[in-house]
Amino acid sequence: MEARSCPRCNGRMETGFIVDEGDYSAKRVARWYAGPPEESMWTGLKTWGRRFVEVQTFRCERCALLESYAPEK
Ligand SMILES: [Zn+2]
Repeated sequence: MEARSCPRCNGRMETGFIVDEGDYSAKRVARWYAGPPEESMWTGLKTWGRRFVEVQTFRCERCALLESYAPEK
């Protein structure tokens, strides 16, 4: 992955990811889903059948800004 610089202070951006931590489910990288969120009585939010991509998040080592990208694989 290429090095990025911060759009705010031009500091170095460190590569990382945000983890989705459900109450009882396995940890996984947070995902971006297409469309507006819909509540579900059973799962919190409805995600079944929705298009998604995993989110990459960069963090600035100087000012702590987070910048996220969701590239198609
Ligand atoms: Zn910065």
